[in-house]
Formats: sequence, structure tokens, C-alpha cells
Amino acid sequence: MTTVVDFKAYEGKKIKFKYVPPKNAADDAPRTIEGTIDMATDSAILLKERGSAMLKLIELSGIESDTIEFIVDPPTEIKQKTVAPVTVGGARNHLLDKHGWKLDAINGTSDEDAYKIHSAIDHENLGHVHEVRE
Ligand SMILES: [Zn+2]
Repeated sequence: MTTVVDFKAYEGKKIKFKYVPPKNAADDAPRTIEGTIDMATDSAILLKERGSAMLKLIELSGIESDTIEFIVDPPTEIKQKTVAPVTVGGARNHLLDKHGWKLDAINGTSDEDAYKIHSAIDHENLGHVHEVRE
């Protein structure tokens, strides 16, 4: 059975699937495999199987695609960063890079207006907050 999953995008991620080894392999019994994808190519993946330190080469042709499950890790917490206060001259670039402003909006806004607009933004739940470092 061929698979249509882009395993390259999942390098470093955990996966579980049913594997049917090639006939005449040392152990050709179909089984469920769980592990971390170390590397992927167009025809095989290198897998660090759960509970084993060794990497194992798995031919994609042996993976039953409808049994593939990616094991999702819970998200890690991202903490708010403290950055220097914005200046009048730096406000436009800051709005563009850190506050999702579009280029045409920035190019239609003066330095002073950008500074005022930014000063009114509540940063409490954003990825950064401005503070003077002692
Ligand atoms: Zn800001």
C-alpha cells in the first residue's frame, strides 16, 4: 500500500501505524509500531521505535496509510517577552513587525501617529510588553 503523507514535515514527531514487513524479512509478522521519525525520504523513514535506542528503517510501502496516527504533544507555554519602549522613530517598524500591521497602512501613517496609536495598544495578552530595563 502506498502512502500520501509528507513524512518529511513530521521529522522529530511521534507516529503510530500498522506495519506489514516485506515477505521473507527476518520477522515478517504485521504489527503496530510507535516511535519518533528521525528522518524521512521518498521511500522510507528512519524511526526511533518507542522503548528502543536503535534507529529502524521502515519502507513506506509497508506502512498501512489508513492506520497512521500522529501523536500530538501538548503545547508548551510561550512566555511574554520584555522589550525596550518604542520611540517615535521606531514606532512604524514596530507596528509592522510586532503588531501585524500591513505595509500600505504603515506607509500611510506618520511617525507621530504611529507612536500615539502604539501607546494606546493594551499589551497585556500579547507576545511582548514594553518596559524600561534598569
Ligand atoms: Zn508593542
